[in-house]
Amino acid sequence: MEFSQSNIPSAQDLLRSGELFVPFSEFPVQTIYETTGWFERKLQEGKPFVIRGLNQLDCWDAPTLNNGCLVTSSSSGAIPVRNCQTGRDVRMRLRDLIPTDHTRAGHVRESLYAKDLQCPAEWIRALKAVLPSCLMQLGSFDLFRVLPKEITPEVLMAYVGTQLSLSGFHRCFSGTVALNLMVESEGSRYGSLCFGTDQASQEKYDLFMEGLGKSSHTDWANISIAQMKTANFPIYVTHQEPGDLVIFPSATAHQIWNVSSMVTKVVWNIMHASSIPSFFNYIQPVYQKQCHADTGRVPLIPIHALRDSSHNPEETKLLVDMLQQLVDDEDTGCDSSVPIKLVDTQGAVVECNFCGLTIWNRHLHCEQCGDFDLCLTCYVSGRSCKHVGDYTWAELFRSEYCRSLIKTARDRLGSYSASDIGRPKQKTLGAIALVAVEARRQSSERLCHLCRDSHPVWKGITCSQCSAFFCYRGLYRHFDINLLRFLRNEIPWVCPKCSQICNCRCCHFSRPYQSKDKPIRARIKPVDPRGRIAGFVDNVFDQKRGKRAVTITQSASPQSTLEPRGQKRPRTPNNDGHERSLHEAVDSSESVDSSQIRRSHIVTDVDVPHSLPMRGSSTGSFNSKGQLRISDLVEDRSPPDKSFHRSPHVQDHIPLSSTPDNTAYRYPHEPKNPNENILNPIDEENILSLERKLGSLRQYADGLLELSLIDSHAKVLDKISSLEAQIERKRRQKAELLFSGLNRDFPDLADIAMEEARRRGL
Ligand SMILES: [Zn+2]
Ligand SMILES: [Zn+2]
Ligand SMILES: [Zn+2]
Ligand SMILES: [Zn+2]
Ligand SMILES: [Zn+2]
Repeated sequence: MEFSQSNIPSAQDLLRSGELFVPFSEFPVQTIYETTGWFERKLQEGKPFVIRGLNQLDCWDAPTLNNGCLVTSSSSGAIPVRNCQTGRDVRMRLRDLIPTDHTRAGHVRESLYAKDLQCPAEWIRALKAVLPSCLMQLGSFDLFRVLPKEITPEVLMAYVGTQLSLSGFHRCFSGTVALNLMVESEGSRYGSLCFGTDQASQEKYDLFMEGLGKSSHTDWANISIAQMKTANFPIYVTHQEPGDLVIFPSATAHQIWNVSSMVTKVVWNIMHASSIPSFFNYIQPVYQKQCHADTGRVPLIPIHALRDSSHNPEETKLLVDMLQQLVDDEDTGCDSSVPIKLVDTQGAVVECNFCGLTIWNRHLHCEQCGDFDLCLTCYVSGRSCKHVGDYTWAELFRSEYCRSLIKTARDRLGSYSASDIGRPKQKTLGAIALVAVEARRQSSERLCHLCRDSHPVWKGITCSQCSAFFCYRGLYRHFDINLLRFLRNEIPWVCPKCSQICNCRCCHFSRPYQSKDKPIRARIKPVDPRGRIAGFVDNVFDQKRGKRAVTITQSASPQSTLEPRGQKRPRTPNNDGHERSLHEAVDSSESVDSSQIRRSHIVTDVDVPHSLPMRGSSTGSFNSKGQLRISDLVEDRSPPDKSFHRSPHVQDHIPLSSTPDNTAYRYPHEPKNPNENILNPIDEENILSLERKLGSLRQYADGLLELSLIDSHAKVLDKISSLEAQIERKRRQKAELLFSGLNRDFPDLADIAMEEARRRGL
């Protein structure tokens, strides 16, 4: 990693080097008091900027805003502190991280970052004395203020980082504006080096991160200077000293390197009006695809905001347009004939049990599970619990009520009407879901061109030209197809085969589509394990496992099953799922992986609160998906009523119960788990004999191929895949058994064993 004390350049060095480094715009602190509308304009501009010298103000409360106050107000217990070199957390007391006794100054270790520390009440008071309301959390610009108190994300946190600690390049949760104020810097005034991107480069930034195989929403990807130099968009650079407030507008990305021996900061996020379109148009689709929790509860903002009238006209216009769009999109087109149950949540938040999205209104509810809800997007994407046909429509607000809110707001604005002329006519999500409900009731199956297995029709789509059937999962995994776009579009869908880009093993096109399969995709999983059973689209399994592959390909396809590019293995129905689950569980391309798996759910932060839950009373409906459970590592191969599944699983309406203890700590190296005697010797034997069989089948396959006996070779290949799947399944069952026993009897050992299993790629 290009990140050591000796080679950290200064902001000036980087700017002098030219290239794509450009400076943050800088403002003296007086600006924030003198010019009205200044802050709003800066946020709309969408470039990172810095306000310098807050600590020069008379109202800056130096006796309060310092490490001493933070230590005094901290609890005496140990907290998780991330070692940024190893990506692992260690536990220590804050007073050991920040020695108040200066004679012990030599102890400071490198790369330690304590994030999400409770911000002392004294600090909050002191900040309010310095900052105008528009800059404050829950202040005049922060739309989080409209949410009910119990569900408002409180994201004002203190951070303490030693030299060489860092937050990797990432965006803040839910498209929020990130504010980062340095309170103290030890050893040198020059505390941190900050990098940022602008809104105009959003898509380029995503492609850049994708090219590096990293997620653009999580904060563990440190990007080196050399890597930054390969970007094709400007990278903003500045240094940060005590009293400097660095601001990253909605959905812009940033990376922070702490360079002095210790820095202390206070960081917070605000949901500015400009964050609303960023969230809905840009962030939410990615969150839904990747099953990232929406910790900001943003979908609830428009309706809550319009229930009171205390917004400026610009804000109101934006919110009323947004609500209109949301209401229109969930319209089924024949609401009068669809029974929709009105749900009183009594203030609790309903989350999609698959993608984690906060559901603002209409959704599909599983009558069998009773507590399993799907957002419309997940539902139409083929995601599900196992009761695929037992979903009923539910809503939190009647559409008449929503429309009356919209009308009142428009009247208040002087009969303001939305300017949606020119927006292309699309099918609404509600209408698509209605079709999907119907499809799920049918028992008919189709043979999938990609999997060569038959799927229920609701799991895929038919080509308008050749009428071949393609499953959603295959289209997503092998063709990166954004399914919603074509479902919304009235234009008939044309399959990859007819477009001559099909990359399946039967089609032999000269330019087959190369899928962008990257590590970031491999981590997607439903937030609720019940979604694994039948959920589809990305990494989850077909519930019909154990079913034999349909051996012969569809008649429309060439019969040869030779693999033209020599890379693909023949597929069996479960094959993809197996590969996926393995990746998902054990992908360890980066050293910090264990923490990644556990953290992939939260994308909060300025520098990202994530090893701790949001603090305060805002726990109304955060769930425990931040924890790595055994069931996360070991793929679900058993019916959901096995004891394994009784481990507390995620439910919407339950307050966050995860504590720092179980979310963040992991031993780096531990002795091997001694409990091998639990293993079933018969199973052991089975696996061995299956492996022997596999070896000899492979030899037969080679021989058949040499004799050009292609059809028989194909049959043998199919047999090989099914054997591989069988072995995989057995290995998993074994691991499952072992880990679930361990988890019950020795939870801490289970943790260790899983860690080792992950390291060893099991
Ligand atoms: Zn969802
Ligand atoms: Zn169900
Ligand atoms: Zn398929
Ligand atoms: Zn076709
Ligand atoms: Zn094909």
